[in-house]
Amino acid sequence: MIYLDNAATTSLDRDVLAAMEPYFTQIYGNSQSQHSFGRQAAKAVQSVRDSIAARNVCSPEEIYFVSGGTEGDNLAIKGLCHAYGRGHIIISGIEHSALYDSALQLKSEGYELSVIPPAPEGIISPDAVREAIRPDTIFCGVMYANNETGIIQPVQDIYSVCRSKGVFFYTDCVQAAPYMPLSSSLADGLVFSAHKLYGPKGIAALYIRGGTKVKPVITGGMQERTLRGGTLNVPGIVGLGAAYEKCVSTQETVNPYIRSMRDTFLKRVLAEIPGSRLNGSGPMLPSHANISFDGCAGENIVFSLDLKGIAVSTGAACSAGAVTPTRVISSMLGLPRAKSAVRFSFGRNNTPEEIPQVLDALKECVSRIRSV
Ligand code: PLP
Repeated sequence: MIYLDNAATTSLDRDVLAAMEPYFTQIYGNSQSQHSFGRQAAKAVQSVRDSIAARNVCSPEEIYFVSGGTEGDNLAIKGLCHAYGRGHIIISGIEHSALYDSALQLKSEGYELSVIPPAPEGIISPDAVREAIRPDTIFCGVMYANNETGIIQPVQDIYSVCRSKGVFFYTDCVQAAPYMPLSSSLADGLVFSAHKLYGPKGIAALYIRGGTKVKPVITGGMQERTLRGGTLNVPGIVGLGAAYEKCVSTQETVNPYIRSMRDTFLKRVLAEIPGSRLNGSGPMLPSHANISFDGCAGENIVFSLDLKGIAVSTGAACSAGAVTPTRVISSMLGLPRAKSAVRFSFGRNNTPEEIPQVLDALKECVSRIRSV
């Protein structure tokens, strides 16, 4: 089996699993409890909060633990907008549906929404953001790197534009976090999720700049300074902390390793498979290669490779047999390119030896699909 879908999720690192284990079986107290079980759990949570804050150059009180990138995106945009009660929102057209659909929901509640389309390369222009800002703009969201293309966005410049106009800027760092250092200098709010970093599913860290007014989306207990009710996922938080530390401290060696495999693969696909085209250009994460194959439906390639034991994805949403081509590639390059797009995403557990095997399988699948 060859797994080239690391942008969807990653395997749990064994060291991370080992770090989490005691928090399932021995230190299983509720971190809100006052007895020693609870205090030990609370200490572990605080230590992860501190280390994430140190890495991200912010204060521990500005970090909130949530159930994933999806919840982080929802809480950031809905929490902030609901605190204002009305106003204008800006998001990019390449956002993950967690933010995109939240913005649409806010629009249906009466907020005004501007969606900035990407250039054909997949980039959101800071100038377009500047032009979209109005006196009543309260939130701007542009992701750090796109989940389908891996294209890195000029968030530093976009943040400068927003800051100069007093607009809260939020960046979804779920895809960028495994490869790029994160910092509070990037935005007023950001999120990253453990399962993209060889950590557990169901846990993420959300940074929100201190002093920002945000209403909770999930109400309940007093957890997370009343912003997010619910018993803390202590083993998950410990796993998030361990996974993040390992990822950040090994980026310098892991990034070139992954990039070299991705570049070799991409170069060979484009040279050896006629009618194959890379989707997006410009600065790109080391992991992603989103390629369209003329005359092939992306999902047919995904199914055919799966039969050969190779896992890749289209980025398309499938429901009841109907396949909706990806909004992101569509808005960059049009519908036909989107329909034939396949995302290959490399990770630190891939090996260079897998590349020729994937190439052979891919060539066979593409020519068979084209011949039908
Ligand atoms: N944002 C981006 C860019 C993502 O790629 C994903 C997941 O694929 C999410 C948000 C959602 O994160 P989670 O799966 O942790 O809810």
